[in-house]
Amino acid sequence: MTWKERNAMSATQEVDVVVIGAGFAGLIAARELSNAGHSVLVLEARDRVGGRVWTTNMLGHDLELGGTWVHWVQPHTWAEMTRYGRGIVRSPAAEEARWLGTGGVPRVGTLEEFLELISPGQQLIINRVREAIPRGPEPTAGQIAQLDALSIADHLATLDLDEEARSANESVWVGHVNAPLTETGMSTAYRWVAATGGHWELMHEASATYRVAGGMSEWTRLIAASVRGEVRLNTTVTSVTQGDAGATVETAAGEKIHTRFVVSTLPINAISGIEFTPPLPEPWQRAGRETVASRGSKVWIKVRGPVRRFFGYATPEHPISVLKSEFITEEESILVGFGPDHTRLDGTDLGAVQAAVDAIRPGLEVLAAVTHDWMADPLSRTTWMTHRPGQLTRDHAGLQRPHGVVHFATTDNADLWGGFVDGAIESGLREARLVGERLGPTTV
Ligand SMILES: Cc1cc2nc3c(=O)[nH]c(=O)nc-3n(C[C@H](O)[C@H](O)[C@H](O)COP(=O)(O)OP(=O)(O)OC[C@H]3O[C@@H](n4cnc5c(N)ncnc54)[C@H](O)[C@@H]3O)c2cc1C
Repeated sequence: MTWKERNAMSATQEVDVVVIGAGFAGLIAARELSNAGHSVLVLEARDRVGGRVWTTNMLGHDLELGGTWVHWVQPHTWAEMTRYGRGIVRSPAAEEARWLGTGGVPRVGTLEEFLELISPGQQLIINRVREAIPRGPEPTAGQIAQLDALSIADHLATLDLDEEARSANESVWVGHVNAPLTETGMSTAYRWVAATGGHWELMHEASATYRVAGGMSEWTRLIAASVRGEVRLNTTVTSVTQGDAGATVETAAGEKIHTRFVVSTLPINAISGIEFTPPLPEPWQRAGRETVASRGSKVWIKVRGPVRRFFGYATPEHPISVLKSEFITEEESILVGFGPDHTRLDGTDLGAVQAAVDAIRPGLEVLAAVTHDWMADPLSRTTWMTHRPGQLTRDHAGLQRPHGVVHFATTDNADLWGGFVDGAIESGLREARLVGERLGPTTV
């Protein structure tokens, strides 16, 4: 009896590859494998593709509730931008900067003044980047193993900075990593700066300047349309059981699909949503239990009237530590804010949002706010992945290793821009290649 005959007795459908999840990693893997002639089925629990990118028209604008900014120094992202004819739109350059000076006194200055304040600290923080991670695409190859136990807060504490510069540098980093600095490894800082050739200014630009014209969701819809196979929405996978030939994937509706290979694209923090038999290898189990560091919030805020274009920082202890203006009209302005801990701000509580805005940019009247709590969302339980101290060098290789016929494609295990859209695309390409090699050539 062939594997097909054996499993047809219990399975309702057979494919070469089941891809779990229709975010960037899943869609790219599915496109590559299906274009190579393999039969592919994508199962996505949500009622839309895109995963942690999601463009919604609210507050009168197309707002990105998840991933937003891209840059041409992100090679996988840029290749896909070119392939799908996507352009970029610059987020408005700030005319003024706001931060908290010594003793928490509000300061207003120019962009140049703020950069002058943070520059020495920013450089000191990443001074050892070329030893730590000499080559961006090889994140565990340098001296990072010796430095990986260090949190960003630990490292900042060793730097000779005055109170104002320290506070400003802390706020900038908490904005980047979307988590408390005490819980975030220096590996994240080193990786991002290694990815931009050792230049922290370029890292800042790469991570928060250019949006995708037409929105992230439209881009992922275009990728989905180029998958030569079914992308099935509203289908939650509950278990993956490996047999002696392939695996059976079961959905919440009780459907069983037999497949030769599985590509899981679940984030580390959400991996416990599926029961794997045999159980997942130790790196996945451990990382899933421990969770990655990122656990912040992103909130879009409408305020009355036009504002002078600004960006502002509070401290890592504030519910919103970074706030900037994104869309400005005569009637209203739309701001976007980021906080290090999603439990500190209820984005639907306008009083709380008003207080958080006041701490950075007093004098504005909050009219509405929109957010998605990615941490509470069982399909993500994370924002953009940043590691806890020690996690990168301990688990990175293990998280990439296939488990029997189950492969793992996720931005969380990408080499270069791990945590970003670029990393998701990289991981989808990588696992499609590896699964394709194991499947062998097709006649198509
Ligand atoms: C608030 C926020 C801001 C961000 N900002 C940026 C940015 O500016 N620039 C940038 O590059 N990146 C940013 N990111 C990160 C970026 O969005 C992600 O790295 C990327 O989208 C992850 O893609 P992925 O395919 O690896 O994972 P996901 O997009 O999470 O895809 C996994 C998919 O699996 C599905 N799934 C989960 N469980 C199941 C199940 N049991 N059955 C079936 N399907 C399941 C999920 O619904 C999801 O669609 C941001 C993320 C967030 C949340």
